[in-house]
Amino acid sequence: MTVPSPVGPQLTSRIDEVLSRIDSAATRVGRDGADITVLLATKTRTPQQIAAVIEVLRERGRTAAVGENRAQEMAKHEDPLLAGNGVPRHFIGRLQTNKARDVVAFAEMIHSVDRDDIAEALQRRAEQAGLTREVLVQVNTSGEESKGGYAPSLDTVLPVVERLRDSANLRPTGLMTIGANTSDDAAVRASLSSLRELRDGVCERLGLDDFAQLSMGMSGDLEIAVEEGATIVRVGSAIFGPRPT
Ligand SMILES: *Cc1c(COP(=O)(O)O)cnc(C)c1O
Repeated sequence: MTVPSPVGPQLTSRIDEVLSRIDSAATRVGRDGADITVLLATKTRTPQQIAAVIEVLRERGRTAAVGENRAQEMAKHEDPLLAGNGVPRHFIGRLQTNKARDVVAFAEMIHSVDRDDIAEALQRRAEQAGLTREVLVQVNTSGEESKGGYAPSLDTVLPVVERLRDSANLRPTGLMTIGANTSDDAAVRASLSSLRELRDGVCERLGLDDFAQLSMGMSGDLEIAVEEGATIVRVGSAIFGPRPT
């Protein structure tokens, strides 16, 4: 296993490569790449690596966030290299009700609300902690069984968003998905564009004016995601290098 050096020309060039992929895709559809939040998927990465990437994104004038998807790795974000750096912390992984309290304490935005009992646990824990948390509803737009998320239909998603809207300590601000895991670009695009259509449908039906987030796009499909309207792309390996196994 080779560990990439935390700061170095290799890391900087990978970051610039990702930013230029985002920018080119944005330009193709008349968007500004700098408006898209670059969320660093930080699983298995060290505080040194994460801090180095944040520094480069700052220099480039980009909006960054960190997204942890393993509850047991949230503690590493308290490292002095990261604590108090002002970069918003998000949670992007599979949620378990017994971790809801820790996740609420950690993350100002939780992307992966994929079951009703999770929404209830998050509300209860946020209320106990006296916190308000932004939440995204995770939708399984690919139909792949390995993936969490509500079914991609307005009939399913609307009542979920309504319940979240009525939860005093949660604020639903959009939708999240993991795109289809295939080299067939058309299938990926279909799954990601369906998330945008769902978001637009929710906004229209519920008259929400702050339900704009589309968290979609990872290292392999971020161009398609940006073209289809992503507001947050979640990037791991394209920036940090292959994940240590
Ligand atoms: C790991 C992860 C990502 C980033 O994946 P890469 O392919 O490494 O960019 C994005 N979203 C979620 C939910 C993840 O767990």
